[in-house]
Amino acid sequence: MVEITIEESKISGSTPLSDQILHRTKNSIAGGDSSTMRVLPYHLPLVATKGLGSRLWDVDGNEYIDLNMAYGPLIFGHRNPKILRSVIDQLSNSGSQLGFPTEINMRVAEKVKALFPSMELMRFANSGTEGNASAVRLARAVTGRQKLILFEGHYHGWSEAVFHRYHAPTSALPEKGFGPAIPGTGGMGRDEPDAIVVRWNDLNVLDECLKLHGNEIAACIMEPIMGNAGVIPPSPGYLKEVRDLTRRHGILLIFDEVITGLRVAAGGAQEYYGVKPDLTIISKALGGGFPICAFGGSKDLMAPLIDGTVFHGGVYSSNATVMAAAEAVLDHISSHRSEIYARLFDLSQALAEGLRDIFQRRGRPVVVQHVGPLLSLFLTKKPAEKIIDYRQAREICDAESYISLQHALQRSGVYFHPNQLEPMFLSTSHSEEDISIVLERFEYAAKLI
Ligand code: PMP
Repeated sequence: MVEITIEESKISGSTPLSDQILHRTKNSIAGGDSSTMRVLPYHLPLVATKGLGSRLWDVDGNEYIDLNMAYGPLIFGHRNPKILRSVIDQLSNSGSQLGFPTEINMRVAEKVKALFPSMELMRFANSGTEGNASAVRLARAVTGRQKLILFEGHYHGWSEAVFHRYHAPTSALPEKGFGPAIPGTGGMGRDEPDAIVVRWNDLNVLDECLKLHGNEIAACIMEPIMGNAGVIPPSPGYLKEVRDLTRRHGILLIFDEVITGLRVAAGGAQEYYGVKPDLTIISKALGGGFPICAFGGSKDLMAPLIDGTVFHGGVYSSNATVMAAAEAVLDHISSHRSEIYARLFDLSQALAEGLRDIFQRRGRPVVVQHVGPLLSLFLTKKPAEKIIDYRQAREICDAESYISLQHALQRSGVYFHPNQLEPMFLSTSHSEEDISIVLERFEYAAKLI
């Protein structure tokens, strides 16, 4: 049985031990951590020691209300007892990894299918990057076409298949709204990009692009709610129109629901907006903090994995530890579905309204956008009603002031990512009191910027 207690802790905002550990880590881990997103030059030092519910502690003993939730997976908070119990039972009674098919795999797949009927067949993998790369490979094999459509501001992991410069400066983006993908990193070494990047939320641009290239495109892959350029929902009817357009050109539509799956609704954005993609990738919330991904689609589309035309493997794919975590997540969602999403949406609504009110009273332009527990505060350089795509976000946002605001909040015990294009994530473990405390601290920090 896992013992859980919330300790008394101090919030001093001072982090000498974090400084010291980060400094020393740089001698053994390139850049100080194994994900660049966690050690950006403008990050204040924070070496985490533990989490519980909505709270996170650093090695210096500072306590934070966590609005990052490990970039989204912790939909039920840190150390959720049901998930921990399921994992511990699996580890102590059966083992972490057996190297054979297991019954728990079958159960988890059936439970995923019940929430995502579009995933008639699926495979499990270990990360969103792997799932996206595999889905794209399948799409190419099935259609016999090579090119992909990607969208500005959308991120699908760092594999060769899809890693483009999703946060390119707007000056590097073509005026007509689509053009060849810019490789996302040094070392990709592509002579001729096999992806076209299109402005999102703009049907005319997509239509133009498909008139020229439609018959070369294997798949159109998108985050159905953009979450990697801040939270930008699809314009009304956009997803449905894209669905029709892609079908007309024989192009597969892939929804990367790594963020949105089980977060905005049990059945993800496809349930929320009622649009069915051909292939789906879900990851973060599915594992509740354990590394899992599922990708899948119709039986026909998944057939190449069965006949061996397309290879997919992975020593750790669907290992029993993460399957136990996923099963606990899925069981909890299935049995408490309506109260979970009602709660997540209410909390997020309260946070969104509170934030708007604080900045409005100070005459500071902001745009707050959220779909349920996925929320962005955009500090803008001038007033705007809403933000509809990456270019607008990039041009209008006051990135420097946001970093100052984030630093003030972090020092006062509220954590969210300092890049305002990274969303905030709420969990069912956040309380109304947490939201009040967060808003109080925003009230104070807003005076400083
Ligand atoms: N797709 C989306 C929409 C993501 O947000 C991410 C990660 N932030 C990925 C794919 C890649 O997932 P992972 O980091 O697990 O490889």
